[in-house]
Amino acid sequence: MSEKAIDLSSYLGGDHGPYKSWDAVNRPMIRHWCDVMGDNNPIYLDEQAAQEAGFPGIVAPPTMLQAWTMLGYGERRPPGSDTRDPFAVLPALEEMGYPAVVAVNCEQEYTRYVAEGESLYYRSTIEAISEQKSTALGVGFFVTELSTYYNQRDEVVGTMRFRVFKFAPRSVQEAEAPAADAAAGGKPAAALRMRPVRNQDTAFFWEGIDAGELRIQRCRGCSTLRHPPSPACPSCQSLDWDAVQASGRGMVYSFVVMHNPEIPPFDYPNLIALVELDEGTRLVSNLVGVSRHQVKIGMPVAVEFSEIEPGFHLHQFRPLEQN
Ligand code: ZN
Repeated sequence: MSEKAIDLSSYLGGDHGPYKSWDAVNRPMIRHWCDVMGDNNPIYLDEQAAQEAGFPGIVAPPTMLQAWTMLGYGERRPPGSDTRDPFAVLPALEEMGYPAVVAVNCEQEYTRYVAEGESLYYRSTIEAISEQKSTALGVGFFVTELSTYYNQRDEVVGTMRFRVFKFAPRSVQEAEAPAADAAAGGKPAAALRMRPVRNQDTAFFWEGIDAGELRIQRCRGCSTLRHPPSPACPSCQSLDWDAVQASGRGMVYSFVVMHNPEIPPFDYPNLIALVELDEGTRLVSNLVGVSRHQVKIGMPVAVEFSEIEPGFHLHQFRPLEQN
């Protein structure tokens, strides 16, 4: 595959849009968002509080930026929208033999609040397409889309960079091109798990896993526990935090059985649970020692740690013996 010359330059840059929103910024959508996110900031729902904060009326949570212009389940765009696919490079790469995709990261920047009644649209450009890269998942390309969001007066309200990796999974690649791998100097590499991101917010958690401890972030302002790790306390907004060691016991709050697509190196069907710890926070983890037919919501489980690849420790949960 590395021998194949692929010219993706025609997909780079460009100006696609407008991609319009079905609805103007409105209170019902804001209310549902705040409800789901647990965001009780009054400027989003209380006219008077918004005015006291210096706004003419209620404003939308900035993190709703993308929500206003998203395709619905019917995948239709509002009249007046560009009918082209802003991410046409992805189906093109699919045809070239890179069928799999993972989202890599997403960065949003907010220029200003948007108020009830404003009508948003966005324009899109493909900001970057990497050289062909070889990763633990496979060989492929990093593609970055930059979307710029405007209101009805064509004022920029925010931007979003969305980066994906479009790739040929290792198993496919090895099956199709064993000779190329051999020529590249060795045996085909076994697929490896993607490593978790360790940054100043999350390092304590992964260092805990390495040490055989399940740690939960704790606000030093109000002692509220939270997971996944984040810089600020959702209860009191304090940026001051430490961590406590969890008992490691909890129960299956929910679960999914992942069948497709099969991405190495995971085993399928892949049993993934949302575990509610005795301390109250929830985390996503694989379940072991139980089949997908036996797993039940409410099932008591306990954490265990294993070195699933050399130097890479991960937490898993196993059902507790019930007598
Ligand atoms: Zn707090």
